[in-house]
Amino acid sequence: MTAVPTNLTASATPTASESRRTFAIISHPDAGKTTLTEKLLLFGGAIHLAGHVKAHGERRRTQSDWMEMERARGISISSSVMTFERGGLTFNLLDTPGHQDFSEDTYRTLTAVDSAIMVIDAAKGIESQTRKLFEVCRLRDIPIITFINKIDREGLDPFALLDEIESTLALDVCPMTWPVGMGGDFRGAFDLRDHRYLKSESRPGAADGHVVACNGIDDPKLDKLVPERILASFRESAALAVSAYPGFDLGSYRAGHLTPVFFGSALKDCAVNELLEALATMAPPPRPQPAEPRTVYPDEKAVTGFVFKMQANMDPNHRDRVAFLRLCSGRLRRGMKLRQVHSGKMISLQNPIFFFARERQLAEEALPGDIIGIPNHGTLRVGDTLTEGEELRFTGIPNFAPEILRRVRLDDPMRAKQLRRALEDLAEEGVTQVFRPIIGSQWIVGVVGQLQLEVLASRIATEYKIAVGFEMAPFETARWVASDDPAQLKQFVERNSGSLAEDRDGASVFLARDTWDLNRTIRDWPNLRFLKTRERT
Ligand code: GDP
Repeated sequence: MTAVPTNLTASATPTASESRRTFAIISHPDAGKTTLTEKLLLFGGAIHLAGHVKAHGERRRTQSDWMEMERARGISISSSVMTFERGGLTFNLLDTPGHQDFSEDTYRTLTAVDSAIMVIDAAKGIESQTRKLFEVCRLRDIPIITFINKIDREGLDPFALLDEIESTLALDVCPMTWPVGMGGDFRGAFDLRDHRYLKSESRPGAADGHVVACNGIDDPKLDKLVPERILASFRESAALAVSAYPGFDLGSYRAGHLTPVFFGSALKDCAVNELLEALATMAPPPRPQPAEPRTVYPDEKAVTGFVFKMQANMDPNHRDRVAFLRLCSGRLRRGMKLRQVHSGKMISLQNPIFFFARERQLAEEALPGDIIGIPNHGTLRVGDTLTEGEELRFTGIPNFAPEILRRVRLDDPMRAKQLRRALEDLAEEGVTQVFRPIIGSQWIVGVVGQLQLEVLASRIATEYKIAVGFEMAPFETARWVASDDPAQLKQFVERNSGSLAEDRDGASVFLARDTWDLNRTIRDWPNLRFLKTRERT
């Protein structure tokens, strides 16, 4: 493997609670997320050969029918966690599925990160999926570093790309690297802060020795390295970029108002190292986490964390699953017992799992920012808070109002009980949401994307051996109904029983026939709240 420079500057001796960088990559399919992930792992020393990420995923995905379905479509529904170390820091990269039919998993994964990298294809600019994921980041003020990828191909003008970020995402931008030629003229990028020319390298993986320290963009050294026409145009646009945008402001970035922008190429290893350095030096270490009744700080002694994702065991015959816990404070050791605040039950952590790029390993100790897997038989649920005993509840891990609602048709009525069990199990994993209408007996399932529906049908058939079909429901959208006035709520439920259902926790859900129906109802009941998201209480 090629030697990779490890000239990180901010990593002197981080304290335990500052030694983690837990992040996700958000992007539209094809922007280059997989390639960039491979390169980050490669530069971080976690894998020896780029290409490993996909190969690894491919092997895993053949293990059951629904995984088979993912494979056939070339996408990944299940998120995973990849860990690498560099310069005394541990990086936890949480994978978010990039397909447009994403599930709630994707959103919830973003609740467990402290920052995100937004990858944009230089030829396409901001695409729909990126935008959706960005909105989720914004809800939580997650700071974002932007990587404009594929500058080795013909792309949009850099200024146009920056303008688009500013105008469509309402984010300030600060270019950190600037392309030295694009497409056929591509000669690399220039680090505007440290004045280094990052030469393009035709040999992938060769990150060493292609960085030239310069004395600004006018350094005569560049005249020998870059053809005149390309250099002139680079100097002109880079000078404009430096004068047109304000300098980098750490506070503004960390508050989610400004994004540092790296122009680069994941494929050609261009500016990837600089991106990794930015993650180390600028991206926030584990942040204080909002909770009721108090905020939790990462340097607190007592262990706390929340479950943001459930994943079924790869073997469909076993109903045990893995809960993904984001650690928020304390040092978690194997063998500890933690309290599931919701139920008061003690959960024993005999076999917590660390997720490494190459294999799962038994964890001995985890720190704030780390993700661990807890195998369990359905005790744990998404949104659960675990503590050493304190009555706490982490907030901001929502259920989302589904965009697709279907009635579940059961062919064999004798199996109603099993169906209920199956739906509840799968709802627990976040594969679907289930609603039971107040009138009538047919369950209604809600999903965020069409693919989720297919996964649901296939899993009910293969794992529970129940034949079901989905029928159009006369409803288009759902909203949780809440009110400070129980009498009002009761009145609303009585008058609208044909459009009301309960979710798994018994919360009232209004099923609207269409947008017009929803808007009219909201207008007619000004004292009620119609919510698009609901948190477990
Ligand atoms: P994902 O869908 O976002 O994970 O995208 P991939 O990483 O699979 O990349 C999609 C395609 O773009 C693949 O064919 C990659 O080889 C290609 N690609 C990724 N990064 C670059 C880049 O920097 N330059 C060029 N020319 N192609 C790239």
